[in-house]
Amino acid sequence: MQLKAGHRARFWEKNCVAIGLSAGFLEPLEASALLLIEISAQMIANQMPANRVTMDIVSKRYNKTFTYRWQRIIDFLKLHYALSKRTDNQFWIDNRNPNTISERLQEQLSLWKHQFPCDNDFEQSLEIFPAASYQYILYGMGFKTAPNHLGMSEQSIKQAQQQFLKNSQHSKELTSSLISNRELINKIKQYGLQKV
Ligand SMILES: Cc1cc2nc3c(=O)[nH]c(=O)nc-3n(C[C@H](O)[C@H](O)[C@H](O)COP(=O)(O)OP(=O)(O)OC[C@H]3O[C@@H](n4cnc5c(N)ncnc54)[C@H](O)[C@@H]3O)c2cc1C
Repeated sequence: MQLKAGHRARFWEKNCVAIGLSAGFLEPLEASALLLIEISAQMIANQMPANRVTMDIVSKRYNKTFTYRWQRIIDFLKLHYALSKRTDNQFWIDNRNPNTISERLQEQLSLWKHQFPCDNDFEQSLEIFPAASYQYILYGMGFKTAPNHLGMSEQSIKQAQQQFLKNSQHSKELTSSLISNRELINKIKQYGLQKV
């Protein structure tokens, strides 16, 4: 199945506002759709125009805010491709093409080679994907930030490395005590799900 992805250039036009799938669709995995619906409804409720003149002001701001939000979701999705090393089929080759990565994300990635993502890298008080989300994906996918920048002491770097080692040992222990996904599915098929 081919999904047609994208978002409207203008969400609020005169007295009509597109929310949810009528505003756009990007992809199902990062689950940003329901949050967007909620914060769209919130902004409309909080800023409900008192008259026709204020409607133009509010709609202009709404369109600016939500264009920013959709663009940042695209950046966050694109991050997964930008960091991937896959070349095994055209889908990955096309999506990893640097020409398809926004200038802003390229800039962020250059910056994050030398400093960790932080709130200052983002403009809005409510970001769909804040700095922490970027940290999870970046470091989960093996991105490297030069550790000595911004005066991190040798001691704190050592502590962090010890913590990473501890986490990785702990996760190995936990994983080794679990059955595989396939075994679990087979068991559910055989016995059904137990009532809690
Ligand atoms: C399996 C699945 C899992 C998902 N998981 C997540 C998730 O974890 N997090 C997340 O954020 N998003 C998730 N989504 C996406 C999210 O559910 C949708 O983006 C969201 O429900 C869209 O809401 P909507 O109101 O725009 O559209 P819809 O929920 O599709 O509502 C549109 C409504 O309009 C009705 N309708 C259509 N045509 C007509 C007509 N001609 N006349 C009258 N009524 C009509 C439909 O029957 C429907 O009730 C998931 C989607 C799916 C399918």
